[in-house]
Amino acid sequence: MSKQLLSVEDIFSLTKQKLEPKDRELITHAYVFAQKNHEGQTRKEGVPYFNHCVEVAKNLAQFGLDTQTIAAGLLHDVVEDTPVTRKELKEEFGEEIEHLVSGVTKIGRVKYKGRERYIENWRKFILTMADDVRIILIKLADRLHNIQTLEYLRPDKAKRIAIETIEIHANIANRLGMWKLKKELEDNAFPFAYPKEYEDTQKLLKQRAKNAEKDLETIYKKIRTELVKHNISVVKSSHRIKGIYSLHKKLKKKNMNIENIYDIVALRLIVPSIEICYQALGIIHSNWKPFPGRIKDYIALPKPNGYQSLHTTIFTGSGGIAEIQIRTPFMHEHAEYGIATHLLYKDDNKKNKEYNLGWLSEMKKLNEKDTEKAKDFFDIVKADFFQKRIFVFTPEGDVLDLPEGSSVIDFAFTIHTHIGKHVTSGEINGKHSSIFTQLKDGDIVKVSTQKNTTPSSKWLDHTKTSLARKQIKKYLEENSIVNKIIKRFTK
Ligand code: MN
Repeated sequence: MSKQLLSVEDIFSLTKQKLEPKDRELITHAYVFAQKNHEGQTRKEGVPYFNHCVEVAKNLAQFGLDTQTIAAGLLHDVVEDTPVTRKELKEEFGEEIEHLVSGVTKIGRVKYKGRERYIENWRKFILTMADDVRIILIKLADRLHNIQTLEYLRPDKAKRIAIETIEIHANIANRLGMWKLKKELEDNAFPFAYPKEYEDTQKLLKQRAKNAEKDLETIYKKIRTELVKHNISVVKSSHRIKGIYSLHKKLKKKNMNIENIYDIVALRLIVPSIEICYQALGIIHSNWKPFPGRIKDYIALPKPNGYQSLHTTIFTGSGGIAEIQIRTPFMHEHAEYGIATHLLYKDDNKKNKEYNLGWLSEMKKLNEKDTEKAKDFFDIVKADFFQKRIFVFTPEGDVLDLPEGSSVIDFAFTIHTHIGKHVTSGEINGKHSSIFTQLKDGDIVKVSTQKNTTPSSKWLDHTKTSLARKQIKKYLEENSIVNKIIKRFTK
């Protein structure tokens, strides 16, 4: 970690957009203003506090964010930590920047402890995300720098922050499709959160990664020769080593047996177009046998966070196996920086509605008032947005994106409330099934309705989506015997 203070010119050079004179002016203004107001303050690591503000702005520039967000990054701690008021900030920089900075300040203030703190943090993140996702990105950029300087904190505090980062911040980054950021947050936090597990995993990874990288280089040369024969040019190739925390999580699932993990290193091929992605996959499969069950088409069926790529794992012919990921340059940019790639090229990028991420707009519908207790809110959000998702299909081929464990009832409610309320049976892949049956990834689902069928409390035991649960509860409430009697007498 460099302790050198970056200049405003350094920040300019890191941005991905073409800067107009007014952009340079704004960033310079924010830089000078923050530097002046943080004057005399120092960080735990013994450098001027202002260095932290610049590091946060640097992260935001690297994510590819707009000028306003970079300026707000420089200013993100002035309201919290200096005498500058929100009013002064607004007069100096306008409403948009004041809104961003105030948003960051608000999420920072969590006074609870333990589980309550955890729940409250989640709730704030989710609500803020629905307001303006850029506030979250500033918070994540802030956390990234703080997590890189954890060694200067008291060990118990460092551990708490590290665990929180893995549980909350990295999960949010993942949900926003920011793979690179997620990996950095997790891998920086891991040694402080779980030191023993970190060391064990690191040993295993060191042994394996070296050989795996060598194998991958050999196979890449062979693959490239085949592709060139078919006139396919590879724009860029690289390999990525699995994040150490993500490897640790997978090892736990696979009984700590590293032999069962196939994607410790993966080869990435960036090719010019979608058609060429499929062509390249075809050429690879006609030369090397693919590993059954590991061919994934995230181009036709993107992950809920927007991730697109083709994945396959092949037998290299020399006893090894290799994961290969094929994608276009745009998909690659998106895979690394996620939602940030959508933000820069928008004129009116204040609101989230244009970013075609279904779950984000769905989340906005979750009103704070609907879920009185934080606990409820937490469970709903976790279930809906941060668990594994499955894709199921209507007979017409429309794709529905549902949380894992969803049933025929969830499916029916997702299509339409009316269909949900009267769903009486289902047909999964042509086979008759009860409405309580859990769906699996790739199922083709058809539902039948009957006017006389209505929700019962048992339905709540077999539903995962917040939408279905909300509608069922509402129905049960409206149709409870007590309510019916009250209605009759108050008519
Ligand atoms: Mn900060």
